[in-house]
Amino acid sequence: MQLARHIEPDSDTVTLATISWHSSRGLPPPAFIASLSPSRITAAEALQNSSLCFLDCADKAAIAQVVRLREICGNGIYLVAVTGAVTAEFQAELFDAGVDDLLMDDGSAQLLRCLLRAKRHLTLLQAHQKTLDALQDKLDAWQDGLDHLPTPIYLKDVGGRYLGCNTAFSHFVGTERDRVIGQTLADFLPLDVAEAHRESDLEVMRRGGVIRVETDVCVPDTGVRHVMLHKACVASPEGGLRGIAGVLIDITERKELEARLTAAAERDPLTNAFNRRKFFQVAGSAIETAKEGEQSFAVAVIDIDHFKSINDELGHGEGDLTLCSIVDTLRAHEAEGVLVARAGGEEFFAFFSGENAAQAEDILERMRTDIARYCAVATGMGTAGTISIGLANFDPLQETIDHALRRADLALYRAKRDGRNRLCRAD
Ligand code: GH3
Ligand code: MG
Ligand code: MG
Repeated sequence: MQLARHIEPDSDTVTLATISWHSSRGLPPPAFIASLSPSRITAAEALQNSSLCFLDCADKAAIAQVVRLREICGNGIYLVAVTGAVTAEFQAELFDAGVDDLLMDDGSAQLLRCLLRAKRHLTLLQAHQKTLDALQDKLDAWQDGLDHLPTPIYLKDVGGRYLGCNTAFSHFVGTERDRVIGQTLADFLPLDVAEAHRESDLEVMRRGGVIRVETDVCVPDTGVRHVMLHKACVASPEGGLRGIAGVLIDITERKELEARLTAAAERDPLTNAFNRRKFFQVAGSAIETAKEGEQSFAVAVIDIDHFKSINDELGHGEGDLTLCSIVDTLRAHEAEGVLVARAGGEEFFAFFSGENAAQAEDILERMRTDIARYCAVATGMGTAGTISIGLANFDPLQETIDHALRRADLALYRAKRDGRNRLCRAD
């Protein structure tokens, strides 16, 4: 039934409504309504199509039917009560119950106006529905776009309940999106993790703007990843706070590269021992932060004995292996409180601070005997691959570390001269 054609006979373009007649008394429609050829429609159909519904409202029993129809069909129906001569009070009750219009059962004269009002109402309703559909399309397009990104993204309210998220985020918390919405992080992750995130949520809400938090997260299928979390306050249209938008950026590869670059900057690539630069950095900061009365330090210079003959007789490859195994043996003592670094070639520095400085000679002697036992080899020059050591204790208030190392170097020279594989204290 094309309502527009009844109102504007020339227009055949718009189908505005399905017209129906309801009578709980089982009466046929009055002739002036019957001329519109009303069809009986179900409530479900009424929901699908914007509908114009004439309702037999002879007495108060009709009120309940009005309420029911309105409940089922919402605003998608233009409800016209067809009454006899009823009181103003009953008419008011009908409007309260949800009718949009009234028509007397002999009211063919009012029909045209009623149809015009219905047309205006339903046109507005359809325009409104089109706007809603267009908005829904836009929302779907955004959601689809976000779902194609591998980066978890979410939006949650000020209480921490999720308002929306993309597929990557629901995958990250290990459930479907529909199960994420309305939940809090505590519903998916261990309480302590959820509480830590809640803390940073509260902080960003307190401070406003954006905060960045670096953290390790366990991602299903992938294992532990290092992520940078960006959290931003989202304002409501009224200017208050709607909640927090968040994105988890996977920076695992960047972190690994950073770690490799740091290692390359501070470690010797062959033996993986700290280099000179790192040695002076660590020793310098230990000296700087030492409290008064704890200014006790020691340095040692360690040199491999007859190392050249290992290279010459067994080859450079074997020389490299010996160098690495000597470094491993030296570093096995790091837990005793010594910092070891490769100073260059087959020479090493050791640094001791505080109580360990008093133990330096003992620790170095243990290193020396371990190396003599596990690393030494016989060559034409005699035993090679043992170590000689020069040790110097020092007080940084009286002497620089460079000067102490020079004294240790002189002591090392004595150890070499006295037969190698021994430790000499500096004067
Ligand atoms: P001394 O007991 O007097 O210290 O004798 P030495 O042979 O250990 O000392 P020398 O200074 O004569 O020789 C050191 C050798 O160490 C020479 C050099 O080629 C070798 N060397 C330095 N760095 C490396 C390295 O990274 N790998 C290998 N295989 N050899 C190295
Ligand atoms: Mg040497
Ligand atoms: Mg040397």
